[in-house]
Amino acid sequence: MSRGYNFSAGPAALPEEVLFQAREEMLEWGTARASVMEISHRGRDFMALAAESEQDLRDLMAIPANYHVLFMQGGATQHFAQIPMNFARPDMVADYIVTGSWGEKAVREARPYVQPRISASSLDSNYTRIPPRSSWDLDPQAAYVHYTPNETIHGVEFREIPEVGTVPLIADMSSDILSRPLDVSKFALIYAGAQKNIGASGLVILIVRDDLLERCPQNIARIFNYAEHAANHSLLNTPNTYGWYLASLVFKWLKAQGGTEAMAEHNRIKAELLYSAIDNSGFYSNPVDAQARSWMNVPFFLPRPGLDGVFLEEADAANLLGLKGHKLLGGMRASIYNATNLAAVEVLVDFMRDFARRHG
Ligand code: PMP
Repeated sequence: MSRGYNFSAGPAALPEEVLFQAREEMLEWGTARASVMEISHRGRDFMALAAESEQDLRDLMAIPANYHVLFMQGGATQHFAQIPMNFARPDMVADYIVTGSWGEKAVREARPYVQPRISASSLDSNYTRIPPRSSWDLDPQAAYVHYTPNETIHGVEFREIPEVGTVPLIADMSSDILSRPLDVSKFALIYAGAQKNIGASGLVILIVRDDLLERCPQNIARIFNYAEHAANHSLLNTPNTYGWYLASLVFKWLKAQGGTEAMAEHNRIKAELLYSAIDNSGFYSNPVDAQARSWMNVPFFLPRPGLDGVFLEEADAANLLGLKGHKLLGGMRASIYNATNLAAVEVLVDFMRDFARRHG
């Protein structure tokens, strides 16, 4: 069986070149005479990988010098809790802009450590739009403002970085990091699970402004304390070395592709192709406001839910994988991250046209 066209939301498709290289280096990595999985994270070879991968990410995202880059574990979900643990106190408030399920989950996990305020929400539209900035009820005393630039389940993405004054802006970029150029200096903290645009699950990247690290309290365990991780170059304990290695390969791959500007163009073309196929079909639909449609995750619905099973079965037979929508929404979802090439989207669009013709 050949590798399929993979539209999984995450863990998601990796660049094939990266997988080939990882296979090539599986038994002997560089001059280590062992796999990268089998050597000390404190040895010279791994430390060199750690430093080089951080520099590559700094180059790709133009990360200013006054930010630390952390390579951590726990999934983005753990950081939903760890962020208020480090940057707030239970008697403080923090503003949350909720434009989908991941924003909701961030609020839920934050509750033991801060008083989250839902300062804006698009729940009333079933998360199909972004509430206009003029309607946000922000508290100037808030510990921070948190938002999710790309909601992976609902397929809703911010086009612009919101202006929030002097309150630190925190973004969960799990599903859109590195998908287009970004002005990092507008953020106090960016964090992202790796399993979409960076590599394998089990690794979380944090890009944190130095002044925020000064807030980390002394009365939490060291392992939860971001300032401790920063001071120890993410080697406070054993990191996810293989995940870090895969991320390092993806960063090199991204550089070779032309970086985030090239990715933005590539992602825009794929997304436009797919949305126009949906909109012009008279068969499929996507309910998201045109101004907020995600370039990464494209949910779409068939005219009769009874057709979902047939669609998925036929898609699988056509070697198209990972198209089942999230259980909260039903329908379909095609995730088209950086590693998805245009040819895969063309095959999907052809399949969708043919399916609509036969079942319309
Ligand atoms: N935030 C966003 C935007 C996500 O897409 C996801 C995972 N799909 C998460 C957080 C949670 O990530 P994890 O399961 O790795 O904790």
